[in-house]
Amino acid sequence: MAVREFTIAVAAGKGGTGKTLLSTSLALALAQAHPNRVQLVDCDAEEPNAHLLLPVQVRHERTVKVRVARVLEARCTACGRCAAACQFGALALMRRRVAVFPALCIGCGTCAFVCPESAMLEEERVVGSLLLGRVCGALEFTQGRIHVGEQRVTPVLQALRKALAPGMIRVLDAPPGTACPMQETISGADACLLVTEPTPFGCSDLTAAVETCRALGVPCSVVINRTGVGERSVYDYCAREGIPVLLEIPWRRAIAEAYARGGTLLDADPAWADSLRTLFRQTAVVAERR
Ligand code: SF4
Ligand code: SF4
Repeated sequence: MAVREFTIAVAAGKGGTGKTLLSTSLALALAQAHPNRVQLVDCDAEEPNAHLLLPVQVRHERTVKVRVARVLEARCTACGRCAAACQFGALALMRRRVAVFPALCIGCGTCAFVCPESAMLEEERVVGSLLLGRVCGALEFTQGRIHVGEQRVTPVLQALRKALAPGMIRVLDAPPGTACPMQETISGADACLLVTEPTPFGCSDLTAAVETCRALGVPCSVVINRTGVGERSVYDYCAREGIPVLLEIPWRRAIAEAYARGGTLLDADPAWADSLRTLFRQTAVVAERR
């Protein structure tokens, strides 16, 4: 298989479906066949955990900063125009002083624009970090982390996007759910693999994830985890909607034990590597057909 630039997002409508197990296993299997041509990007910046399943050798950590408003009190006349203009509730006039709530500020600069005294400045604030490393000397690893208490994950996701390695296969481990962080991650991906499980909950969350992919124009396919237990609604839904089910991961003790030890599908059985590389090829075919 010739390597060409391709970005595949691995997502799930809810947490706990095996999304990170699949993304780490897939990235490892691809890196076995294409050393130094695969990048795994852990985009679950609020709860990053891909490093728990892989022997990551960290090479570098980079801070993620945003620009936020700061009041130069010596110039401020407490006119209140800045607080009135801020659409994000990041400023409040309290007892003739302007209070800044940095976690709410998006650095839009409106307050500085309306301030008649040039009393509104900007300063940098660290909101998270990127971890850059390698796995087994063959897989590039990049992970985003938002600092505890920060509310906006977007700056970290934007920094991850800038850190995507050109010309490589990129496997993005998306944040769970279908809210903004997931959407930001899968936007622009060539394809999305949606991981679900054969339960009514899995089917409900898969439905939301499929609708999100369709709204964003990202071709999607499905991987069903823990097959052999549960029921058929996920299969029926995929058949009805014409969504290909490309892989089933059975409920097996060996997989559960490997995962419990902090391992991937390849630790449960190295033969999974072939199935995962086939999964990648099929995903690329589905993307090309759209
Ligand atoms: S930079 Fe924008 S978001 Fe931040 S305080 Fe000023 S007006 Fe509000
Ligand atoms: S607009 Fe400028 S002068 Fe008026 S309260 Fe805000 S910082 Fe102070």
